[in-house]
Amino acid sequence: NKKVVLKNHITGFPKETDMEIVTSDTIRLKVPEGSTALIVKNLFLSCDPYMRSRMSKNDDPSYVPDFIPGSVITGFGVSKVVDSGHPDYSAGDLVWGLTGWEEYSLLTNPEVLFKIKYTDVPLSYYTGLLGMAGLTAYAGFYEVCAPKKGEYVFVSAASGAVGQLVGQFAKLMGCYVVGSAGSDEKVNLLKNKFGFDEAFNYKKESDLNAALKRCFPEGIDIYFENVGGAMLDAVLRNMRIHGRIAACGMISQYNLEKGEGVHNLTYTIKKRIRFEGFLVFDYFHKYNEFVEKIIPDIREGKIAYVEDIAEGLENAPAALIGLFKGLNVGKQLVVVAHE
Ligand code: NDP
Repeated sequence: NKKVVLKNHITGFPKETDMEIVTSDTIRLKVPEGSTALIVKNLFLSCDPYMRSRMSKNDDPSYVPDFIPGSVITGFGVSKVVDSGHPDYSAGDLVWGLTGWEEYSLLTNPEVLFKIKYTDVPLSYYTGLLGMAGLTAYAGFYEVCAPKKGEYVFVSAASGAVGQLVGQFAKLMGCYVVGSAGSDEKVNLLKNKFGFDEAFNYKKESDLNAALKRCFPEGIDIYFENVGGAMLDAVLRNMRIHGRIAACGMISQYNLEKGEGVHNLTYTIKKRIRFEGFLVFDYFHKYNEFVEKIIPDIREGKIAYVEDIAEGLENAPAALIGLFKGLNVGKQLVVVAHE
């Protein structure tokens, strides 16, 4: 059983060499008699920015535990049940949820696991569009941002797993949507594939405040925050009165030992901004509602989704680290095995 293991807890920017591929003894593909565990064959793994914090030793308790050095890395993935002692699952079922970065996993306590109902769409979508990222975009946009038709919406890391969906949801709602991304290729996707009204490459803008003023002469009603740092600082100055910021993530801060300063937080007061953090983990009860709503939109071509697919467990560490360099174009995932 080949697996990806974290060597040591890290600080600063993660490196491929912080992880290693280990091949352990053969694993038993039968669950022990009387156990409610599952054995799954992992097909696709999801690379997610939140995994970075799990690679460190955190003093403050988090919503997810730190990885244990020497142990397999865990994360979201798509798997096929090989054997089951659990009454809700049988061999052959396709599932997505928390699993190991390895060929086969023993899931002793399948807490976050969903059965895959629709297989007429790519199975890999359950790492992103129809998985955690999709639910994040759905809950974050519709619930936290409370959008109204015609509002001005800004999305950062807009071509990524979550951002590309937020932009499309906002367009379907009748909003004016602008996205920022870190390359011209991504900006092109935003405008020509995902239907954003405007987009800019933040790495080419010498003044983010000016870029936002150019795109939003009347200001921003909703900011879907994925990056934090300098972008958040510039956005704060451009928010409209009673604007809303959904703090989904702040990836520019994850590898810093001390966060870059955000100077303009007083604007939350001046502009009566509602700045609300949220976690997808609080919205898993909405997953079935989300899937039923979005499946017809996918089938009718109303929602597009771009994936960046790495082949093989060996390439998983590089794929994960690539997120923090913006190397991924769309949802980053890893293929471990084809059914
Ligand atoms: P993405 O697919 O968007 O990949 C990450 C992207 O972030 C990169 O491609 C890069 O895009 C951008 N990025 C990386 N480093 C920086 C930096 N220093 N400054 C600015 N941008 C940077 O990831 P996801 O869509 O999966 O996640 C997006 C955000 O949502 C993350 O902050 C993540 O932590 C958060 N999240 C939060 C959840 C929640 O429950 N609250 C759940 C899921 C995700 P570019 O080339 O455009 O710079």
